[in-house]
Amino acid sequence: MSELKVILFRDEAWESMPEALKRRVAAGVDRIRSQLVFIAARARVRTMPRIIVQPCVWHDRGQIVDATLCTLVSTPGHPELGVVVSATVALCEDEAVVRDVLMHEVGHCFETARKLVDQADLGSPASDLRGDPADEARDRRMLPEMADWFVGSTGSFMQWGTQPIVPTAEIQGLLDAGFLSLSDPPLMSPGTPSIPADWTGHIRSLRSG
Ligand SMILES: [Zn+2]
Repeated sequence: MSELKVILFRDEAWESMPEALKRRVAAGVDRIRSQLVFIAARARVRTMPRIIVQPCVWHDRGQIVDATLCTLVSTPGHPELGVVVSATVALCEDEAVVRDVLMHEVGHCFETARKLVDQADLGSPASDLRGDPADEARDRRMLPEMADWFVGSTGSFMQWGTQPIVPTAEIQGLLDAGFLSLSDPPLMSPGTPSIPADWTGHIRSLRSG
């Protein structure tokens, strides 16, 4: 297994948080890391996407957004597919829910990579990759067959439901107290992300299988 990277973004929002909340978020980062280990152990590829934890709350048109697929640029000029999660995922103490959220976003990374590799190899239309992340039908189209990417998986990916992963009143309380801040979800950076070689190989093997 290659090295797993879960990185807490220690920005101004983090610095201004009370210590007790910092400890809760840090414990959440540990939970996220252990769930990523669980997921990586079952994945049919070695490389896992990098996970960034942004300790703030995202709102999109009045809805809380917990996590998103994103283009990450850890080395300038080398965008890669990764996952960014917000404070709500770090504060969610239900490990099964955290795992489902991460599986869903890692699934988006795999399916996006498949579309990019197919586009390069077979000339499939780039329009597949555009669209509104809040469109539920598109969200389902942007998830792969679970068994193509995970060993022993016959299940399906979690779909975003109406049930918040952390009680809304709790998040609202932290926002009202000024302990957490509100921002827009991160956007995909321009530029085509590079795809790990083991993903590309796996994507090509799925075509013949
Ligand atoms: Zn999704």
